[in-house]
Amino acid sequence: MNKSYEKFKQALLDATHYDRKIEPNKKVFSASMLGNQKLQNYLQITIGAGSDKTEVDASTLGSLVHTAIKQAAQARNKFMKITYLPEHRFSHTLENGWTITGSIDLIDHEYNTIFDHKVTNTKSIIKIKKEGKDHPYALQLGVYKWLLSKESDIEYKSVITAFDKQASKFNQESLDMLQFIPIDTYSPEEIEKLLTAATDDLVTYMETSAEPAQCDTKSLMWYKKPGTDKSVPMRCKFFCSYKLVCPYYSIKGELMQGMGIKKYYKKKIKKWKHLHLK
Ligand code: SF4
Repeated sequence: MNKSYEKFKQALLDATHYDRKIEPNKKVFSASMLGNQKLQNYLQITIGAGSDKTEVDASTLGSLVHTAIKQAAQARNKFMKITYLPEHRFSHTLENGWTITGSIDLIDHEYNTIFDHKVTNTKSIIKIKKEGKDHPYALQLGVYKWLLSKESDIEYKSVITAFDKQASKFNQESLDMLQFIPIDTYSPEEIEKLLTAATDDLVTYMETSAEPAQCDTKSLMWYKKPGTDKSVPMRCKFFCSYKLVCPYYSIKGELMQGMGIKKYYKKKIKKWKHLHLK
């Protein structure tokens, strides 16, 4: 096999590699969790579960893009004095004992700008621009800036590198496959308050052993199956790392309703733990 094939194979393996640690009940809250639904965070913290990553799915493409940009940044740094710092991981502990972690996709030290890469679609890009500071991606970037503020006095700008999978000359709304979207974020003080409130909230759920309600139904990206009356929650089915342990999402790919949920949930968790927590 030639070297280029080996390199590409390694990139694919890296992109599909499952690296989320299954360590439930640790007081660790990652930057992206601030924009998540409460139920997702609760499942992450109490069960420590996520996708088992045995298949190539929607997130694999995103991971490949991250790998490619990291390699490009490292290659560029070899020829210039170091400007780009890819995948910088750091953490800080709040007064309530929760450790907040983050991994910034790219820091540009020349222009003091942080970048977060998202492989997304036209509709989502419009939403990012419309929702501003409250969009989950803006909250995530706000947490990164809060973490950076604990290390230095530099004020960083924040940008989303958006790869639009739907960009084409046939799409009226977007022609640009790659867009750099400057993002306004809450101040570090405001972010710290939001993080404290979100983590305190999780403790309340954990102490009472009551799961949060099902995720906001409007956020689930419903898709009507052609030729049927059935609608599928696309977010659950394709983009949620917690579907395997969600009390509301059934193995058949539907959202559960009614009294059977608790019983079904217990069975589901037992099965999941048997398969994944050996
Ligand atoms: S499967 Fe759906 S309802 Fe359950 S946590 Fe995920 S997004 Fe929320």
